[in-house]
Amino acid sequence: SPGDVVDIVTRTLREWALPEPSFDGDKEVRGHVLIVGGAREMPGAVMLAATAALRAGAGKLTIATAASTAPLVAMAIPEARVIGLAETANGGFTIEAARKLGELAGKASAMLVGPGMQDEGATAELVHALLPRFTGTPIVLDACAMEAVRAAGEPHLLDEPKDMAHFRFIDRVLLTPHAGELSHLTGTDKADIAADPRGAALAAARRWNAVVALKGATTVIAAPEGRRWQHEGGNIGLAISGSGDVLAGIIVGLAARGASLEQAAAWGVALHASAGDQLSIKYGVLGYLAREISAEVPGLLRTLA
Ligand code: AMP
Ligand code: MG
Repeated sequence: SPGDVVDIVTRTLREWALPEPSFDGDKEVRGHVLIVGGAREMPGAVMLAATAALRAGAGKLTIATAASTAPLVAMAIPEARVIGLAETANGGFTIEAARKLGELAGKASAMLVGPGMQDEGATAELVHALLPRFTGTPIVLDACAMEAVRAAGEPHLLDEPKDMAHFRFIDRVLLTPHAGELSHLTGTDKADIAADPRGAALAAARRWNAVVALKGATTVIAAPEGRRWQHEGGNIGLAISGSGDVLAGIIVGLAARGASLEQAAAWGVALHASAGDQLSIKYGVLGYLAREISAEVPGLLRTLA
């Protein structure tokens, strides 16, 4: 019923404080974000997500991206450790990446996979290989990486049948589709999703046992247990390339600080929209850049805390 959907407004967030950073934890595990993504033709998406994660307060950052662009990404984001991954002919990563990334499993506090990735098949394989290696890590799957959940329902999409045990996702995976992506993932008409985003988000959350943030002018976040959050706000200027990468980066940064994926998604969506509103005052509703969203985040966090 509509009554069980909570609107995310400033008051909601104030009453739902983000966890305080721990000052006595191991430096290696406190707030360490791992971002996996990028491709030769889209090296910037991981950079946008990475900057956003740091602006959201993450302490440490590793980016794993296409070997061909890794040195350029490393120069652009001096705060990051950058790992180069071998590429497939279609601009994806070879499965070898799973072993290489697996070495970071105990170190990453939260992981984001997907920004700028291109090869759907290779990406689904890679995510399926990563999930059993990162059992203790909250994971955000965005863009192409969400293909993994489609492949779970249609195993012929994968090279080899997989043990789907790692698909018992509860509380450790967040999916961030827009209506078009959710339509592709589920086969549901985009118009039906747009007509009932609350129902569609909850159905997706239950189907995959994951937290789902269904993005749009109105964004609905649903947890498989039935909790739902709705955010209305932001502006049309947020519908620009790179905007979703920034949102995913903010969310993984908050998750690395210790927020649950549900809380990180709710806060992330609100921060992203408010940042867009501040930029629209400065530049007008059209013409601000995705890369400009992140710098607004620390100030917003300060006023909301
Ligand atoms: P993506 O679809 O992955 O590129 O992400 C776009 C981001 O911009 C999502 O966070 C959307 O919720 C947001 N967005 C897109 N259009 C609007 C709009 N008209 N008003 C507010 N937010 C929007
Ligand atoms: Mg996107």
